[in-house]
Amino acid sequence: NSWWSHVEMGPPDPILGVTEAFKRDTNPKKMNLGVGAYRDDSGKPFILPAVKMAEAEIAKKNMDKEYSPISGSPEFCKATINLALGEDNEWTKNGLNATVQGISGTGSLRIGTAFLSAFFPGGKDLYMPTPTWGNHVPLAKHAGLGVKQYRYYDPKTCGFDFHGALQDIAKIPERSMILLHACAHNPTGVDPKPEQWAEMSKVIKEKKLFPFFDMAYQGFASGDIDKDAAPVRMFLKDGHQIALSQSYAKNMGLYGERAGAFSLICSSKEEAAATMSQLKIIIRPMYSNPPVTGARIATEILTNPSLRSQWLKDVKGMADRIISMRQLLRSNLAKEGSSRDWAHITDQIGMFCFTGMTPPQVEKLTKDFSVYLTKDGRISVAGITSKNVEYLAHAIHQVTK
Ligand code: PLP
Repeated sequence: NSWWSHVEMGPPDPILGVTEAFKRDTNPKKMNLGVGAYRDDSGKPFILPAVKMAEAEIAKKNMDKEYSPISGSPEFCKATINLALGEDNEWTKNGLNATVQGISGTGSLRIGTAFLSAFFPGGKDLYMPTPTWGNHVPLAKHAGLGVKQYRYYDPKTCGFDFHGALQDIAKIPERSMILLHACAHNPTGVDPKPEQWAEMSKVIKEKKLFPFFDMAYQGFASGDIDKDAAPVRMFLKDGHQIALSQSYAKNMGLYGERAGAFSLICSSKEEAAATMSQLKIIIRPMYSNPPVTGARIATEILTNPSLRSQWLKDVKGMADRIISMRQLLRSNLAKEGSSRDWAHITDQIGMFCFTGMTPPQVEKLTKDFSVYLTKDGRISVAGITSKNVEYLAHAIHQVTK
């Protein structure tokens, strides 16, 4: 008679489960388009040159392994919020930000949702786009928030359902919280255009909603860190107070280093100090203080001008490779003779492409061609290379014709 005999086997993680199945496949042509991690054109994990240079600099400094403060490295937090809001921005210059280091994007979202659960003075439902990153839902629930949705993706166009989104947002009860993907929406790859962001900002303001930005891909979408952060900066200029989660997993390739940050932009220094004190009180019993290595690498890159310029090139290189794989996939589908409109492959942006394939088509793609992806038809474009793109186009055409 064990303490745990009542515990039932839970389902595997929908994304990590794809990798497990991929590993078991012996087909030499197999492709893993499930997990969202960048690969180079040989299909190998990529360590950014800027990261290697930063590690060499850090090694020279002979740093100790002491605990970080509860809120993480202050240099890291400052460089990170300035990356989001722009150097010399009025909010950090005036001390209006409460920024804490988090355990990458997930951990930062977790701190943020815990804070909102405890202190948000309005409704405790967080409105999320349909669909959203799979982890957003359990994450918010875990923190005690309710999860509600607004329309986002239009399956008919494989694009943004702008009117549906605006209609739904306009119906959200006043003083609720709304989650926004700053750029490179996951899982759809569909981002609002600047003028659509402007309209959304207006409605969100009118409805007195609180915007919580998840920015997990700054620079990774367009290749330009400022362009990708534009929605966040626009909302601040429009007078919103925002919450913001950031991650260096993708744009610095620091996946396993777990470096990220959570910020609140407040209306006064006093408010920033008070919210900061409460963020620390939330963090302390969760994990005491964050890991140091990834944050050191990110800080070195952001504050050392020659490393920073190397990094900007590295990010652009990754974004450009993804954009060119989108073009190649689309042109190869045309070459295969596909009569379907695949424009969304190149209209969408970032790590992922929502192909519009149905679950039976996805199943066939995996069974007959050993191409692994999530059931919703999402592919990680980073898993495509100039060597396997023809095979992929052929396989997709075979299952969709
Ligand atoms: N938010 C979104 C939308 C993501 O796609 C991801 C990663 O896939 C994350 C947050 C968090 O990633 P990490 O915890 O690895 O930084």
